[in-house]
Amino acid sequence: MEKDFLFQKKVRCAVCGEEFLEKVVRTARLRRLQPDFDLRPRFRDIDTIKYDVYSCPHCGYTALSRYFEPLTKGQVQLILENISANFTPPQESAPEIYDYDTALARYEQALKCSTVKRAWTSELAYTCLKLSWLCRSMGEVLTEGGAEERARLKQKEEAYYKKAYEGFQKAISTEDFPIAGMDSLTLDYLMACIACHFKEYSYASRSVSNILGSQTADRRMKDKALDLKDVIVKAIKEEAAKKNA
Ligand SMILES: [Zn+2]
Repeated sequence: MEKDFLFQKKVRCAVCGEEFLEKVVRTARLRRLQPDFDLRPRFRDIDTIKYDVYSCPHCGYTALSRYFEPLTKGQVQLILENISANFTPPQESAPEIYDYDTALARYEQALKCSTVKRAWTSELAYTCLKLSWLCRSMGEVLTEGGAEERARLKQKEEAYYKKAYEGFQKAISTEDFPIAGMDSLTLDYLMACIACHFKEYSYASRSVSNILGSQTADRRMKDKALDLKDVIVKAIKEEAAKKNA
């Protein structure tokens, strides 16, 4: 049962100072499944991505848990003026588990708050990456709505994925590692995967070369990079063949 993986954690809001209870995943209980090609984590019986956002029910301030605090005084002011001033606290208590629509709304509020508080590019990029992964999960479990709903989710997933891709490119050249908790090799690998998705093979090749030429990458990482290199080389050949056809 999904609720058995969760516990309530007391969080103090970085904006209004009120305390609230947030649902957090008990990591010790998780059974890891094979992640997606781009490292999207997957677990048996629960989609942990749904629970990676903190949202204050008193003032509306919302962010990915890793970015919830600290805030500067200026950022608190920006949230108070642009988010809290128009926020109506929910009438009902929070549900026991989050359905995907609720999770999506919380993530979109997190993205809005990140923009309002002028967060680092990496925070925006990481929030967009998680949003695109959430849309992917929603598409996978979709039983109603049919083709139209599926297409709408796919479009959303792609749009957030693109924003994440562009944001991380900018973050790599302007911020210090770790970026969104990732070292440079992990982010190179992730970016190579995303670049492949967008058929940006020269960017993907560069990222893979960074890993293969690294002194610190371990064997496992280099093997994964080599596998990806094969995919890239094959895709470039196919693209070339299509152009010449
Ligand atoms: Zn608050």
